[in-house]
Order: sequence, then structure tokens, then C-alpha cells
Amino acid sequence: MEKILYLAHTDSNGSLPKPALEALTAAMELSKKLGGASLSVGLIGASIDAAAQAIGGCGAAKLYGAAGAELGVSRYSTDAAAAEALAKAAGATLIVAPGTTRFARAIPGVTARLGGRIDTRVTGLLAEGNTLKVQRWYYRQRMMSTQSRAQRPWVLLVDSGVFPAYSGPASSPSVESVTVALPALKTKTLGVEQATTGPQTIRPDARMLLVAGAGWTKKQSDGQLHIKDAEALIINFLEKTRASLGSSKSLVDQTGEGHEVISILTHLNQIGQTGSTPRHAKGLSTCCHGEEPHAVGWRFINERRAINLDANCGWAQGKADVVYIADAFAVMKRVNELL
Ligand SMILES: Cc1cc2nc3c(=O)[nH]c(=O)nc-3n(C[C@H](O)[C@H](O)[C@H](O)COP(=O)(O)OP(=O)(O)OC[C@H]3O[C@@H](n4cnc5c(N)ncnc54)[C@H](O)[C@@H]3O)c2cc1C
Repeated sequence: MEKILYLAHTDSNGSLPKPALEALTAAMELSKKLGGASLSVGLIGASIDAAAQAIGGCGAAKLYGAAGAELGVSRYSTDAAAAEALAKAAGATLIVAPGTTRFARAIPGVTARLGGRIDTRVTGLLAEGNTLKVQRWYYRQRMMSTQSRAQRPWVLLVDSGVFPAYSGPASSPSVESVTVALPALKTKTLGVEQATTGPQTIRPDARMLLVAGAGWTKKQSDGQLHIKDAEALIINFLEKTRASLGSSKSLVDQTGEGHEVISILTHLNQIGQTGSTPRHAKGLSTCCHGEEPHAVGWRFINERRAINLDANCGWAQGKADVVYIADAFAVMKRVNELL
């Protein structure tokens, strides 16, 4: 019988980040699917008390904690030491953890130390009898694979946005403190700086994605460019809705080509085959043609709408639920007024 360890780290305020609560749901579902395989919890952080209480009602048979000031920040050596100690204390055969940046860095090394195998970016967990199969995507989210492994421990880093976040009852569980043999520290965290200046436009947790395409920077019906107007409309919409901002490759490439550009966009905003594939409940594409390499990145957007002057654009050919054949400058101005 498998022994599942759910492994998580706290964030800077001592609570569990949303991806960690989602991974907990995954671990709980997995325990049920595998005929009641035992579930234990391992938490890492400066202090893990608040996090342990918040998930105290998850039904885990045992809760292990690795706490201490040095474990409050992301650092490979300390995170790896703590995760290794927790995995050994729990004697886990399956380890389910959130695919946060912090764990994506530390957990592959931990898996090697444990003599196990790891699969990252896991988006589905299936059980056939008592055999676990995981799903993940390949080739830029074009092909989905269902796969299994014999090697144990098998570590699964779960992608965010797939499972609902745990919202069960809190309680005050008893926590078994695990001693971590900390290595000599070579890295000190002095503070945290945002990667970009200006408006923060990439918001993975937003309900909605707004995509800006190259049409915003093309000559409009009056024969003129209206790039500053476009930028103001987009920023205004983002401020009002807190939507995440995506872009087409054509638009972000203009930055490198010396054109007048929409200043808040970088290649990090690019959605598509060579861009990202975010997960949002809704998406609105504006001034973007809906070419296949771009629309590939819309795979996980549930409800899709597009505004385009061209009734023959890609969106109108089965890639969107609703297409408005209209001038996006006029539509977004009115939308902002209504908001
Ligand atoms: C291997 C490969 C990988 C690629 N990867 C990606 C990728 O990851 N992401 C990506 O985006 N692209 C990718 N591309 C490029 C992709 O094929 C398209 O060229 C690109 O997405 C087009 O961007 P666009 O729709 O913004 O621009 P355009 O094709 O120039 O479309 C602009 C649109 O704006 C509309 N428009 C203009 N003015 C208005 C207005 N006032 N109101 C409403 N609509 C208006 C026009 O009708 C037009 O449809 C890739 C291409 C290749 C070959």
C-alpha cells in the first residue's frame, strides 16, 4: 500500500500559498483513489503553526513539521535538507507537492538524494486499481501523456490551477517536529525585489486574461497610429478588472524592432506555442488575429471572446465562443466606461 506525503512550504506570512492548498486537494483525492492509501503532511517554514492549523482538518494521519528561521526563505540547500528529512520521517512512497518556484528548484535534488523519481508539471492523477497514473503535457501543451512509474519514492510536483484549493475545516493538530541537519549557509536573503518595474501585469490568479494583439499598433481608419490611446485603454481596463495581461508574439516583438510600442508589454506576456499557456476562467482577445501558434496558448482558457475588425480572423473560425466584429478602440472605451 502506498504511503502518501503531502509536502508544502509556507509563504512569507506563515500561511500556505494557493498552489499548496491546491496540491493538498490533489493529495487528498489521491489517497481516496488509491483505496485509502495513508496520507501524512510535511510542512516547511519559519513557523508552521498557522499553516498546520489551517489544514488541520484534511484527514491526514500524521503531521510532520520542519520549522526554523533559516527555513522561512527559499534557499536550495536548506529547503532540500528539510524536504529530505520530512520524506524520510514519513517513509513516503509517493510525495505530492506544489510546483512553486521554490519547490521546482529544490525538490528534484531531494528526489535524487532519496533515490526516487520525479515528474513535474503534473496536471492529473488517475488510479487504475491501485496503480497510480499521472498526466502531464508535452511539446508546449500540444500532447498529453498518461504515465506511470515503478520506482519509489515517486515525487509529483502539481501544476497550479488544476485542482480546487483546500478550504476544509481548521483544527489544532499535533505536529511531530523533525530535526533538520542544516548545511553551512552560503546564501543570505536580503529582501525581495519585483522583477519588473511599472504596472504588474501578469496575474496568474486572475479570473480573466486580456490579450493585446498587434492590431493596437496598426494604422487605424483615420490613417493614424493611436498607440498611446491603446496603452491608456489597456491600462485602464487592467486597473478596473485586475485581469492578467497577455500578448501576441507580433506585438511583443515590436519592442526589439525599434517601433513605438505599448510600454507595459514584454516577452513574458507572450501567449502561445513559444509563449505561455496560462489558466484563467475567461479570456478576451483584442486586436489579435487568432493564428494557430498563438491560440495554442489559449488551451486552458475556458470561455473565450475576441474583438476583431476582420470577420475572417482565426477566432471566428472556431477558436472563440463569441467574436465581436468591431473596432476594439471603441469597444474597450465603452467597456471601461461601463466598468
Ligand atoms: C513556430 C512559430 C511559433 C509562434 N509562436 C507564437 C506564440 O507563441 N505566440 C504568438 O502570439 N504568436 C506566435 N507565432 C506567430 C503567429 O503565427 C502570429 O504571427 C501572431 O500571433 C500574430 O499576432 P497578431 O494577431 O497580434 O498580429 P496580426 O496578425 O498582425 O493581427 C492583428 C489583428 O488586429 C486586427 N485589428 C486591427 N485593428 C483593429 C481594431 N481597431 N479593432 C479590432 N481589431 C483590429 C486585425 O484585423 C488583425 O486581425 C508563432 C509563429 C511561428 C511560425
